[in-house]
This record gives sequence, C-alpha cells and structure tokens, in this order.
Amino acid sequence: MEQQTGSDADVIIVGAGPTGLLLAGDLARAGVSCQVLERRGEESNLTRAFAVHARTLEILDARGVGDDLAATGAQVGGLRLFGRLEIDLSRLTTRYPYVLVTPQYNTERVLAARAQQLGVEIVSNADVVGLHQDADGVEVDIRGNDGDRSARRAAYVVGADGVGSTVRKAMNLSFPGKSAVQSVILADVRLRTQPAEVLTVDAAGDGFAFLAPFGDGWYRVIAWNRRRQLPDTSPVDLDEIQHIVKSVLGTDYGMHEARWMSRFHSDERQVTSYRQGRVLLAGDAAHVHSPAGGQGMNTGMQDAANLGWKLAAAVHGRGPEALLDSYQSERHPVGRAVLRGSGLLLRLALARSWASRLLRTLLKGTAGRLGLVQPQAAAAVSGIAISYPAAAGEHRLVGHRAPDLPLVQSGQGPRRLYEALRPGKFVLLSHHRLPGLPEFWRDRVISVTVEDTVPANAVLVRPDGYVAWASNEADPRALEVGVHEALAHWDGNHQGSQERY
Ligand SMILES: Cc1cc2nc3c(=O)[nH]c(=O)nc-3n(C[C@H](O)[C@H](O)[C@H](O)COP(=O)(O)OP(=O)(O)OC[C@H]3O[C@@H](n4cnc5c(N)ncnc54)[C@H](O)[C@@H]3O)c2cc1C
Repeated sequence: MEQQTGSDADVIIVGAGPTGLLLAGDLARAGVSCQVLERRGEESNLTRAFAVHARTLEILDARGVGDDLAATGAQVGGLRLFGRLEIDLSRLTTRYPYVLVTPQYNTERVLAARAQQLGVEIVSNADVVGLHQDADGVEVDIRGNDGDRSARRAAYVVGADGVGSTVRKAMNLSFPGKSAVQSVILADVRLRTQPAEVLTVDAAGDGFAFLAPFGDGWYRVIAWNRRRQLPDTSPVDLDEIQHIVKSVLGTDYGMHEARWMSRFHSDERQVTSYRQGRVLLAGDAAHVHSPAGGQGMNTGMQDAANLGWKLAAAVHGRGPEALLDSYQSERHPVGRAVLRGSGLLLRLALARSWASRLLRTLLKGTAGRLGLVQPQAAAAVSGIAISYPAAAGEHRLVGHRAPDLPLVQSGQGPRRLYEALRPGKFVLLSHHRLPGLPEFWRDRVISVTVEDTVPANAVLVRPDGYVAWASNEADPRALEVGVHEALAHWDGNHQGSQERY
C-alpha cells in the first residue's frame, strides 16, 4: 500500500531502545516505511540489561543477526541461584543453549545496524512531547534539542519509549502496579580473583549480591542492602558495593575499579491495553518488572517480533482487524507471567519474612539436589517455553514455537527453518512439496521440505516463528485448502484466492 498522503511514514516508532529498533527493522523488511524518533542525541552506552536469553537469540537468528550478537559476550550454560538451586540451560534444544551476558548497548548496536541497512530513518534529538490520533492517522509533536517544535504524521504510532513512556501518558493509559524494590545498586567492576561459578548469586542476612562476567574483564554487580535504603539520586561508591558483596558472599573478589555505578528502584506495572486505535505500546512502555531473571529487554524484543508482521499486514491493508488485536491477546499474558515470575524471584532473593526465608532455604537444600526445577525452569527462563493460545480443535502444534528444524536443501536455498524465516514471510513445512501453493501465495509464503521427523504432514509457521496451522491430513488437495484457510485467517485474503478456493 502507498504511504498515506500527508504522512511522513507508515509507522512512527517512539524510542530507539531494543524494542523499537527490532520492530523498526521488521517493519522495513516487510516494506513498511518507518521512522524512529529518539530523544537521545548520541548512541546509548547503557549497560542496564546484560542477559539475552535463548529465545531472543533465536528471534535474532531468524533475522540473520543472532550469531553476530552471540559473538559479543560471555555464554553461560547454567544459572546457580542462592548457592544450590541450579538451572541447566545447556540441555535446551536450541542453537543457543545458554544465556548470553553482553551489555545492552551491544544488542542495540546490532539492531540499529540492521534497521538502518533495511532503510529505517532513526531521528535523534527528537523528544516526543505529545500526540493525538484521528480516524486516518496519528500526529506526533516533537521538541528538538534546541527547543524547536515540529510535528510528524503516520498511519500508526508505536510507543517503545520505555518505562516513563510519553506515548502511554499522552493516551491517558494508566500503568497500574506497585514499587517492588528500592535502592538497588548496579555497577560494572573489575575483580582481582575470578569467582568459581560463572554466575554468582546469593542472599544472606540483610543483603543480596550478584556477579556476572561480560567476558572482557568487566563484571556486572548488583548489590542490595535492606538497612541502607536511599533514593535513586544518592551517589554510590565502590566501598558500599564491596561491603555488601563481602557480607553476602564472604569475599569481594578483589573488586577494585568501576566504569559505571548507579542506584535504582524497580516497579512492577503493566498497562491494561497494549493498543488504543492506531497507537500501540511495546516493551517497557507496556510492562515493567524487577530485573530478577533478566527478562525485561527480552520480553520487549519479543513483543516487537510479535507485533511487526501484524502491523505490516495492517499497513498494507491486508490483515484482518483481529490480527492486530491478537498482539494484545498474545503478548499481554506473557507480560503478566514475566511480571509474576520475576516478582517471585525477587521476593525470594530479598526475603525478610520467616516464611520466605524458609522457602529459600528449602530451595537451596532440596530443589537443586532433586532436580525439581529442571527442565521446566530452563525452558521458562530462556523463553523457549513461551506459546500462544490456540482455538479449540486446532492441531496440538498450533501456537507453539517452531524449533529450528534442518531442511531438505535444494540448491542455494535455506538449510534450516530460521534461515527460511529471514525474509519475514510465512514458511510452509511439508514432507513433500505441495503442488500449487508456492505460486499462489508466492509473495507471502516460502515453501520448504523437512524430514519425516515433524509430527504433522504440513506445518505453517508464522513470520515470528510460531505455528499458525498444522495438519496430519494425507490428501495433498485437502492440505492445500487447509493452508489457504489458515493464511486467509492470519494474513487476509489475497487477490484471486476467493475464486480458487
Ligand atoms: C538494573 C537493570 C538490569 C536489567 N537487566 C536486564 C537483563 O539482564 N535482561 C533483560 O532482558 N532486561 C533487563 N533489564 C530491563 C531492560 O533494561 C529493559 O526492559 C529494556 O531496556 C527495555 O527496552 P525498551 O526498548 O522497551 O525501552 P528502553 O530501553 O527504555 O528504550 C526506550 C528508548 O526511548 C527513548 N525515549 C524515551 N522517551 C522518549 C520520548 N518522549 N521521545 C523520544 N524518545 C524517547 C529513550 O531515550 C530510550 O532510548 C534491566 C533493567 C534494569 C533497570
């Protein structure tokens, strides 16, 4: 579809964080003109998030940049919490059986480079101060760094502008929830002695401490002291961090230099509706929770992957209205689950009540030993277990993540499913090439063949890597009709499709 007359872009994204950048690349890949407005004037040097989980790396792999990001940090195959509770990631069936520890700016660099290669305009020094929508589009008010004001218009606007989201506030959307933890200290430090575990986490007395290596000599430290609760603006010094770490872990591992220190508080909040007309929210703008479990950035990027192809279909005038609404029905429950899970982990870590301390002690003593938390915990933490609801009567694969299956190769074609997903289209997997389909849906579907190991005769994978439809039907004509109906449901009817089916 042509860009609307009088519009600057089909979609304006507010915020060039991980969520906005991934979404921008996906929209551009789908032929949607897209601008990102960013308040900052320079590249981010933020190291807030440092854990990139397996599912996020898979999503990046399906965009051709998973291995690029994986090369930037330390790959940690297991998590050990509170001394004994182990989560083994190395057995996950994925190309990335670990958590990647890398500063957030590396993730943003990889995503920004991809978005720009695909033609996205990232406008810096563009502080969005307000917006209003009408029946045809959304107008965004911008303040430049010298205070000058301007406006831009698009068919849709996505607020990926973080926890303080101006877009959310401009839409008068409340952000219900509560404050979870105050005065958490965050720093990147150097150590003289390498800890025995790759990730070191424990809680003792009135404190909590966490250490993780970036792989380049710097370590991320998170420290908290119940007896020293100060506002975010209070300065932090290395002595305070050393003191907490020593009191919890028994040593500070010769901590000596810090490149970055900060004190923050964390809230648990989620907006009720991720969509209001032509305005959508994603990432921290829609949900925020404690950093325990390292889920925030991962969840935001996965919001973007879920939204991108649906919004592109809406812009192209193709997707049914319900498709865009499914962003809310699929991603809101995931955000809620992350909020609860990270909240539980945080409360266990910072436990004060005797009951919570007892539970933590029990977890230390028994769960790790008995393997009670394996392998479900690994699948949950890594994001591999995330799935979306299927309608009654649908094939059992529907809504689940499609694993990166090897393909029966033809010529220069893709060798595995996540390579086939890189153009951002649906992928039809079948044991034998289905006649008729590739021609008919040529612009939207890539048809590939897989070994007989797939538990269905045909599987249609959505552009975001989840199963849209599957069938055990043996008759090729019945399969063809099934695929058509699934595509009409997920992608809207294509010209000519009505006459044929
Ligand atoms: C201590 C800490 C540790 C964390 N560790 C992890 C971790 O290990 N793993 C993990 O997954 N997550 C972690 N998180 C959470 C993670 O940092 C966030 O979830 C993530 O940054 C959210 O990405 P986003 O793109 O949605 O928002 P942001 O990263 O906040 O990006 C929003 C962007 O919008 C811009 N912006 C804001 N307002 C405007 C405006 N009005 N106009 C224009 N631009 C605007 C901002 O400048 C910013 O660039 C951690 C968070 C904290 C605080």
